[in-house]
Amino acid sequence: MPARLLEGKPARLLAGKPVAARIMADLSQRAQGLKSRGVSLRLVSVQVGQNPGAEAYARQQARACAQIRAQHGIAQLAADPSQPELEATLRELNDDPETTGILLQLPLPQHLDARELQQKISPDKDVEGVNAINLARVMLGRPGLAPCTATAILELLAETGLEFRGAEIVMVGHSEIVGKPTALLLLDKLATVTVCHIGTRDLASHTRRGEILIVAAGVPGLVKGDMIRPGAAVIDVGINLVGGKIVGDVDFESGSEVAAWITPVPGGVGPVTVAVLMRNLVLAGERQVSPT
Ligand code: NAD
Repeated sequence: MPARLLEGKPARLLAGKPVAARIMADLSQRAQGLKSRGVSLRLVSVQVGQNPGAEAYARQQARACAQIRAQHGIAQLAADPSQPELEATLRELNDDPETTGILLQLPLPQHLDARELQQKISPDKDVEGVNAINLARVMLGRPGLAPCTATAILELLAETGLEFRGAEIVMVGHSEIVGKPTALLLLDKLATVTVCHIGTRDLASHTRRGEILIVAAGVPGLVKGDMIRPGAAVIDVGINLVGGKIVGDVDFESGSEVAAWITPVPGGVGPVTVAVLMRNLVLAGERQVSPT
């Protein structure tokens, strides 16, 4: 189907749960296949100190692991480990044959260099796709363990039936784990991608051109309805805590009057991201027994 815009109709909700459920159903079978070959999957989250957001994410991971009968463990470190201590923990997990996937929970205390630490995770166990090798694979158009949120965005967009080739896509945000890899994955599908960021002048003039608009800025309500092209598909990646409520980067009320499809926050990108994390865990397990 060519890229098309459905003007004048109320927005359809692009809910994450059904997409996540579809991904998870396929994974249960693949995990079962590994089990029959004597391979158990185990995800280990490395957690420094206490952080309510990170702990909630760890609980989500544990629930998703249970669904595919994978084990989930937490390597808990005290609040202020040194960089070498944390590197040593990651090395141990890299060398542990019982550990299939490793994830470094963020945020880390200021004295630690998260980007550098992510490079210490073996690319074969880097289920979040944050190691430079895995990011480079995205750049080369040969994604393996690709960043989870970027992959989740493409999974959600696939629900719309929109064709990526030739589509005008506007990505707001250029972070290493969301904006940049999402733009690269879409470029590989021959979309025309505009990447906006904090240095962009007149953001609305760009967002209004997007047949597909993806927003990952971490700024609540950054994009209002009048900044959206009528009939566009809008993916809101933002997770912001405002007055005790989780809200996205798109003003949902005005946005859903203009868009043809829109993701809710919460319940849009988030659940799909966790499902993709599980898919990366299964893929890591498969590759560890049969390297390609
Ligand atoms: P980041 O802070 O690393 O990057 C933010 C990006 O937004 C940068 O490129 C910055 O230039 C841009 N930006 C900031 N303010 C802007 C403005 N006013 N106008 C235009 N661009 C602006 O953030 P990130 O890690 O990419 O995450 C972005 C958001 O997505 C956050 O709210 C985060 O919590 C959320 N997130 C959600 C998921 C999920 O699974 N749903 C996963 C990762 C991140």
